[in-house]
This record gives sequence, structure tokens and C-alpha cells, in this order.
Amino acid sequence: MNDTTILADALAFHGHKCWASTAGVRLGLAAMETLGASRAGAKQLHAIIETGDYHGGMCFGDGIQFTTGCTFGKGNIEKTGEGKFAVTLVDKAANRAVRVAYRPTLQPRIKATPFMQKRAAGVPPTEIPESEQMEVVSLVWDAPADEIMTVGPVQAREWREPEEVVRFFTCPGCGELVAEPYARVAEGKIVCTACSGYPR
Ligand SMILES: [Zn+2]
Ligand SMILES: [Zn+2]
Repeated sequence: MNDTTILADALAFHGHKCWASTAGVRLGLAAMETLGASRAGAKQLHAIIETGDYHGGMCFGDGIQFTTGCTFGKGNIEKTGEGKFAVTLVDKAANRAVRVAYRPTLQPRIKATPFMQKRAAGVPPTEIPESEQMEVVSLVWDAPADEIMTVGPVQAREWREPEEVVRFFTCPGCGELVAEPYARVAEGKIVCTACSGYPR
């Protein structure tokens, strides 16, 4: 592939160099290419990733966020929590979606690299020499697409966007800015959830 700037920028955003973020970059780009979509500057796209919490390879999600522009900040990405490395990308305007899943054909080679051996021994990725980090990245980056991913069929997918509330208030308790739907009433005063003392 020759989108090396995208890869370098994605890895800089991610913070270290690893197979899972690289896989996320490749699958994210493939999903967009399949839909003929470009990166979401606003909320044109919605991504559903299948990674979970507290497991190896969650870095996949950063590759998806960086390439698709679907980010947790904008709220146009969600996680199903299945511990899998796949993304469904929805093009909202076109009402179309595609699921792209990582294929683990490279896993024995990835596992055998000095990088992964050290990771398995508990060494943080940032303390592993850059050349060893890049060896793993290159394995995933240079692999033919059909070896590392399965691109599903483009399918019709209706998208209904909930309306976004763009009103805020300043909580009289803590003086901080709060989105209106999160207001609580406590002892007759409109306050934030923390100041109300109510459970979230
Ligand atoms: Zn990573
Ligand atoms: Zn408050």
C-alpha cells in the first residue's frame, strides 16, 4: 500500500506501533473504499466496532477512528463488546453499510516476532525498540488485502439519527458546564448529576 502518510499519522495518533492499530487502519480504509465514502469530518459515517474491554488488540479501534473519522468524541462510533476485530461502517446519507472483518492468517508470524514475545512477557509497547515495533506493523501493512480481511457485501441499512441537544447550563453547585439532558433537580435547584447526589 502507498498510503504511508496515513499509516504514520495514525500510529502517531495511537501513540505506539502495533499490529492491531495497523489492522484497524487497513480495515477502515477498505470499508470506506468499498462504500465510496470519504473520512467523516462531521457525522456522515457511523462505525460499529466489535472489540471489547480489557483485552489485547483493542488498539484496532484507534485505526478505525483515525481512518474513518468516526470518533468517540463525535459520538459516531460504538463498540459491541464482543472481543472481535471487525467493523461495520454505515454511510448515513446513502443508507448503506459494509462489515469488514480481520482474518487471522498472520497471527502465527505476529506471535513469533520479538515485539509480541516481549509484549507477552509484560513489556510495555513503548519500551520495545522501534525496529521491532515496525516489524509487526509491516507484516500487517504489506500483506495482500484478501489475506488479512474479509470484506462483506454492501447492504442497505436505514439510519435514523437522534436529535442532538445543543443547550447547556452552568451548574450552580460546581460552576461547571452541563448538557441540559443531564440536568437533575435536587432540593428545588437545577444542578448536575454529581451535585444532585443521585446515582447516574
Ligand atoms: Zn497499539
Ligand atoms: Zn455541579
